[in-house]
Amino acid sequence: MKAGLFGGTFNPLHTAHIQIADHVKHHLGLDKIFFFPSATPPHKPGIDLAPAQDRYDMVVQSLAHKDGLVPSDIEITRKGPSYTIDTIDAFRRRCGQSCRFYLLMGSDAFFDTPSWKRQTDIFAAVSIVVMPRQGTVPHTDIQSFLDEHIAKGYTWHQEERQFVHDRLKPVRVCPVPLIDISSTLIRSRVKQHLSIKGLVPAPVEKIIRERNLYL
Ligand code: ATP
Repeated sequence: MKAGLFGGTFNPLHTAHIQIADHVKHHLGLDKIFFFPSATPPHKPGIDLAPAQDRYDMVVQSLAHKDGLVPSDIEITRKGPSYTIDTIDAFRRRCGQSCRFYLLMGSDAFFDTPSWKRQTDIFAAVSIVVMPRQGTVPHTDIQSFLDEHIAKGYTWHQEERQFVHDRLKPVRVCPVPLIDISSTLIRSRVKQHLSIKGLVPAPVEKIIRERNLYL
């Protein structure tokens, strides 16, 4: 099985999250993609963070009819900070060795990985799928980032459209539809009592309104 792993604060989940994941699923022929909201994000202190259960409910209700996009509470049921390497280990234990994992991340998250726990172990454990967030991400930027922060020895393979390494898993850039939506934008619009219709799935809008989030 080929499974995508898509983590985030999802504070809240928005339509770009779903559209880009759908795109990657078809583009890479993945069987499913697990969406796992983080409980205690180690990297986003001080933001207006909705309770983990609310963010998880948004994911569950929004993915209810999306084939192959699967909610996971793997991080919100674990105690302590949500480190991605621990989540990968947990998925590996759950799915067995026959499963191939692809970790999806926006380009902003990718360039932030030097601050993640055991980042090189992450690059050794799973293929990385980088989704450009604004325009394209030049290959030279990725190459120099990998050389400087992950390991020397990555080479670009044009045919497979990915960087390969003899010890670490491939890093692929997957062009996704460029959608200028962020959770920050949604929270700010809710605070200003502006419409968020179309920017988030309908169940997310309902949960935000009913539970008075982000006001
Ligand atoms: P915030 O505005 O609060 O920082 P966010 O919109 O970036 O939130 P996250 O939950 O942090 O949402 O994102 C989860 C993952 O989805 C991250 O890897 C992020 O880079 C990626 N992502 C979010 N929005 C987009 C987008 N519009 N295009 C591409 N990637 C995205």
